[in-house]
Amino acid sequence: MDEQRHRRRLVLFSCPLQGHINPMLQLATILHSHSKGALSITIVHTHFNSPNPSNYPNFTFLPISDGLSQSQKKSYTEDVIAFMTLLNVNCVNPFRDCLVSKILSQKHEPQVGCIIYDSTMHFTQPVAESLQLPCIGFRTSSPMSFVAFAAFPVLHEKGYIPIRESELEALVPELPPLKVKDLPVVKTHNSEVFYQWVADMIKQTKASSGLIVNSFDSLDQSAFQLLSQEFAVPIFPIGPFHKFSPASSSSLLTQDQSCISWLNAQAPSSVIYISFGSSASISEAQLVEIAMGLANSEQSFLWVIRPGLVVSSCRSDNDKDKNEDDKFTEFLPQKFNEMMMSGRGCIVKWAPQEEVLAHPSVGGFWTHSGWNSTLESICEGVPMLCWPCSGDQKVNARCVSHVWRVGFQLENGLERGEIERSLRRLMIQENNKEREELMVRVKDLKEMAELCRRAGGSSFKSIEGLTEYIFSCNVPKIA
Ligand code: UDP
Repeated sequence: MDEQRHRRRLVLFSCPLQGHINPMLQLATILHSHSKGALSITIVHTHFNSPNPSNYPNFTFLPISDGLSQSQKKSYTEDVIAFMTLLNVNCVNPFRDCLVSKILSQKHEPQVGCIIYDSTMHFTQPVAESLQLPCIGFRTSSPMSFVAFAAFPVLHEKGYIPIRESELEALVPELPPLKVKDLPVVKTHNSEVFYQWVADMIKQTKASSGLIVNSFDSLDQSAFQLLSQEFAVPIFPIGPFHKFSPASSSSLLTQDQSCISWLNAQAPSSVIYISFGSSASISEAQLVEIAMGLANSEQSFLWVIRPGLVVSSCRSDNDKDKNEDDKFTEFLPQKFNEMMMSGRGCIVKWAPQEEVLAHPSVGGFWTHSGWNSTLESICEGVPMLCWPCSGDQKVNARCVSHVWRVGFQLENGLERGEIERSLRRLMIQENNKEREELMVRVKDLKEMAELCRRAGGSSFKSIEGLTEYIFSCNVPKIA
């Protein structure tokens, strides 16, 4: 009985996409282990993309209905905003029912301390409030991109958004060093829906009891200052999460370990690792440009071509599914195939990314600049070639190239000549001053990422602060 009084139940709810599920489960693992089990973890999740409970025997998993049709489940790669907006509506009642009937009613379980929700799933905050439960937001992307989202009303007022083609290169003085083209605007079928989603996310974060961010003080100091000016709630920078707890167990796709044996046979720092994350897509024509750029650059590569990465422009839906799996190989040019035959390249559908980036043979990362990928690269001291596709990725890429200066961007789209030049610029080691400088800076960041999580480091202290804060949350007793 006594023991129960000193324990708290923590309920977490994530957005069901890979780049959100990984950090949420990492966060849960961090808090569970830091509290030495005094925080009991309950993960509420949608049926869609549900995590594998057997990888987390200490946690309770409660599925809720997401109301998504088969086609809506696939729609996130085409219109992530429509997808998230739908979830923010569909999950309200199932989430509330789950809290009331499966969590709060359980008298033998520890009292609920608070709810931690992915800030993109903003519906959670009003539901928790209606049940008088404290709710802490959780941001899976960079603090700077959240600052930019929070600035949308000002950006509207000053005419930066909606973005005009003629203004793309203009600096946004309110958000240095962002240019108009870096603003985290996401393409969607209806831009009003997007602006509303941003406004709801910011409003609910302001109404919440705190904000957890997957970054660390010394990396994002100025963004954290701007965040605390904007949000009058306690902010907990406790990243990089994956270094406290690996993501492999929350991978939705099977990670192909064969690429590690292939990497073992390559020279140190000789391989460029290429992955555009879990949602981005490219056309068949872009696939050919990448393949030709790679072949002409003569650099060794490990390339993740996940199911769904290559989207056909002219096939029927049935054929599209076939294409999403293996059919892309028929588009690959002969020169590229010859290079594959010679053993200079390796293609997998999904890689053990953290292990790959930590491998001594990997010398560069061509990334879509998703926040998890960016942090993972920094933590392994790997310089980046950035090809941001959408939303916050453009903010992350600008920080990589102009704030931390540990990489540069592919500025003019996917064109074989530019790809060839950029790969050589990043990868060639002899007489390459630019690469040497990138390496010095990225190794510094790697060291900072190590320091912040040691006892007494900023993220370590922030985790302690967050754990205490959760225990101090005042939750009314349920009669
Ligand atoms: N990832 C992986 N294997 C791959 C590609 C990606 O395990 O082949 C992981 C990667 O380590 C990261 C996540 O998937 O943790 C992708 O998140 P990110 O924020 O970079 O991009 P998103 O998928 O959200 O666009």
